Amino acid sequence: MTDTTTRFAPSPNGFLHLGHALSALTGFRAARDAGGRFLLRIEDIDLTRARPEFEQAIYDDLAWLGLTWETPVRRQSEHFDDYEAALARLDRLTYPCFCTRKDIEAEIARSPAAPHGPEGALYPGICRHLPEAERRRRFDAGEKYAVRLDVAKAMAIAGPLHWHDRLKGDIAADPASLGDVVLARKDIPTSYHLAVTVDDALQGVTLVTRGEDLFHATHIHRLLQALLDLPVPDYWHHGLIRDAAGIRLAKSKGAPALRDLRAAGMTAEEVRARADSA
Ligand code: GLU
Repeated sequence: MTDTTTRFAPSPNGFLHLGHALSALTGFRAARDAGGRFLLRIEDIDLTRARPEFEQAIYDDLAWLGLTWETPVRRQSEHFDDYEAALARLDRLTYPCFCTRKDIEAEIARSPAAPHGPEGALYPGICRHLPEAERRRRFDAGEKYAVRLDVAKAMAIAGPLHWHDRLKGDIAADPASLGDVVLARKDIPTSYHLAVTVDDALQGVTLVTRGEDLFHATHIHRLLQALLDLPVPDYWHHGLIRDAAGIRLAKSKGAPALRDLRAAGMTAEEVRARADSA
């Protein structure tokens, strides 16, 4: 098969750790073994967190690991118009959400039966059925709003959906398990879910390789593909590298950066071996 296209899509808001190395290597090897293409995408929609030194470190770390990728690299912050166009197509299935994090937490605390999904409490729907006059009043008052997908409405249009995971087989999509996700944030005209789905299609990605921490996100991505008439890639949600205490490596939990491991004398060969044994 020569039409395999994979990608590694890091966010430049920290340095890469071993978990990223595993993701990048999985995508790179899958493309290489199939005689296909390996792409790199910089997921920097959150301009407040993205930093050029982190982006440069991504290139340095991947090159050190022996990876090569096609250029030019797609940088999401240069393509907000693509995400806005996709969002406009979903207009009748979305609604403005004026809630603050506090509003949402208070509502969840008030309703003990608030629905929960694999990633915690779901958005409790406060703004889903706001009367039009109320929406208008809040727009006019200049209140900031996010745009949420009305998942129930969207699923009614899309019908039952499936995707294929290379490790887990055929998966029935369950987008409702994530609730009315945000498609455009108050401060950013898109969201992870929308940008990643649009880009994987635009870049012709045929196999999405990423950690299983993002497995559930695929339920929503599959729904967005159906709503936007996008091709459906194959998925490979690989296992995660955990520390000695069994906790998955994460920037937020202080996982050692590849560049620090390198400075401490770890070789690229050792990193590749660590990824292989994960
Ligand atoms: N940008 C995401 C991250 O760094 C990964 C997105 C993906 O692979 O779908 O966690």
